[in-house]
Amino acid sequence: MRKPVVGISLKIYMNKLEQTLGFINEIKMLSRDEQDVDLLVFPSMGTLREVGKILEDTSIKYGAQNIAFLSNGALTGEFSIESLIDMNGSIVELGHAERRKYFHETDEMINQKMKLAFENNLVPVLCIGEREEEKERVEEHLKYQIRMALKDISKTKLKELIIAYEPVWAIGKAQAASPEYVHSIHTVIRSILTAEYGSEVAESVRLIYGGSVSQNNTEEIIRNIDVDGVFVGRFGHDPKQFGNIIEQVRTVKR
Ligand code: PEP
Repeated sequence: MRKPVVGISLKIYMNKLEQTLGFINEIKMLSRDEQDVDLLVFPSMGTLREVGKILEDTSIKYGAQNIAFLSNGALTGEFSIESLIDMNGSIVELGHAERRKYFHETDEMINQKMKLAFENNLVPVLCIGEREEEKERVEEHLKYQIRMALKDISKTKLKELIIAYEPVWAIGKAQAASPEYVHSIHTVIRSILTAEYGSEVAESVRLIYGGSVSQNNTEEIIRNIDVDGVFVGRFGHDPKQFGNIIEQVRTVKR
């Protein structure tokens, strides 16, 4: 049995300490040391260390929305995995569509970051997904992104991986992709993993859906064996709504 996952990214929506810590404290209270669902939080980078201090004694995992492809050196303006480890972060989001689009992250860079994460025993949340114009060859596209990101990584490590399927056309929108679409694509991703890395890896990797997830669509989206949870953005920035999303995942996946 794969443990369900609910992740939340604050992107750079919440950047001031007081507001962020208020939010995190509410999440901490409502999660009541959740054991049935893995909760992952990706705060805005400038608040990460302080968020870590609050979450240190909880089961909620926290991490960075990105790391540099080198751990140390001349990469002005980047965020090092060394800092993340120093803050006791245990997870890292890699390959988000916004990083690929605005910061020109290539599949090769994402692969380098994935390797760094695994070498340092961090759990990567690898984001993959097709753009509107890639919908017609979605399987081919996802297979390519997966192969490139996971190149030269051992199968033992891969079992820990979390993949967030985030169709680019559903990010930042009013509506998520339809539950039927999400279910069919997750099944495709699971079969890509089986074909590429074998069933032991494919059955261990957790696949979560992201892109305009809300308390109104979570329940339907996760009603499928290949959907292990959700990755939430804007519609989880209200702690009460985020709590409802966690509750739906807990109940459906029980
Ligand atoms: C995301 O981009 O990872 C995300 C979950 O954003 P939103 O839900 O705001 O579309």
